[in-house]
Amino acid sequence: MDISVVIPLYNEAESLPELTQWIERVMRAGGYTYEIIFVNDGSTDSSWDVIRSLQQSNPCIHGISFARNYGKSPALNTGFRKAQGDVVITMDADLQDSPDEIPGLYRMITEEGYDLVSGWKKKRYDPLSKTIPTKLFNATARRVSGIGNLHDFNCGLKAYKNKVVKHIEVYGDMHRYIPYLAKNAGFTKIGEKVVQHQARKYGKTKFGLDRFVNGYLDLGTLWFQSKFGVKPMHIFGLLGSLMFFLGFVATFIILILKCVALCSSSYDFYVTNSVYFYLALTAMVIGTQFFLAGFIGELITRNSVERNSYQISEEF
Ligand code: UDP
Ligand code: MG
Repeated sequence: MDISVVIPLYNEAESLPELTQWIERVMRAGGYTYEIIFVNDGSTDSSWDVIRSLQQSNPCIHGISFARNYGKSPALNTGFRKAQGDVVITMDADLQDSPDEIPGLYRMITEEGYDLVSGWKKKRYDPLSKTIPTKLFNATARRVSGIGNLHDFNCGLKAYKNKVVKHIEVYGDMHRYIPYLAKNAGFTKIGEKVVQHQARKYGKTKFGLDRFVNGYLDLGTLWFQSKFGVKPMHIFGLLGSLMFFLGFVATFIILILKCVALCSSSYDFYVTNSVYFYLALTAMVIGTQFFLAGFIGELITRNSVERNSYQISEEF
């Protein structure tokens, strides 16, 4: 099978028939063998009934329905597990992404050898409250992930080699960082294609302003995981050692001050009145905590099933 189109959706009943017809038209014109996988993320409107009736007239349509709303990332992840096409294409269900981009994306994966191609909504039809923070967010993501050539990490329209989606796990709100996940999994040929973007035709956006706060927190998690995920002691041990060092220096200063005070009769020194005493105390306590966190982290990674999962690119 050439193409799997994976579409996560939450309350998008009005858009689905139009979107499906459009995809079918594009697939027919290009002569592709394909499947469309709708992942219904706990919609409370009639989305699931619409998908069911669409399936009646086209057996290439598949559906997965969540019992409740889990989020876009779990929906994508579930669709990825099921996808069978050589090229997997994701798009939003709200008609903001154009199915006309599919042939171009498919070509970039199959002929130009990209592992992942991300859409870039160069001209966006979204309110300013969304486009400006998005610019900032993408600049940070480029920096942290080291993928300098992407302008639009969170674009819903993306294309992947099948093996890429089988090797990444998208959870929480990590759909914003799929290129980073792919890079960490060893897929480094990541490209970009300028894509058409439309204003939302039906319904309204499912993400509020909290997307930016959560987005940055997730970026922090990912960065930490890729750097210290399997060797937590490297960071916690370092921080702990620094704290202990600080504690020892402070203790040393106290000792000296006390000695000076003992030797001279004109000057009194009470250890508990000194700022160094409190510094030594807290630094030692925090240092111990860091070491403990490191040890516990090491024990957890030692037992994790993922600790030795590597992506092998070739094997005889
Ligand atoms: N979506 C989803 N689960 C959610 C929220 C959104 O499956 O909890 C889907 C939504 O139906 C749409 C896509 O994710 O197909 C992108 O959502 P939306 O258009 O609201 O995001 P925006 O375009 O505003 O970034
Ligand atoms: Mg949208």
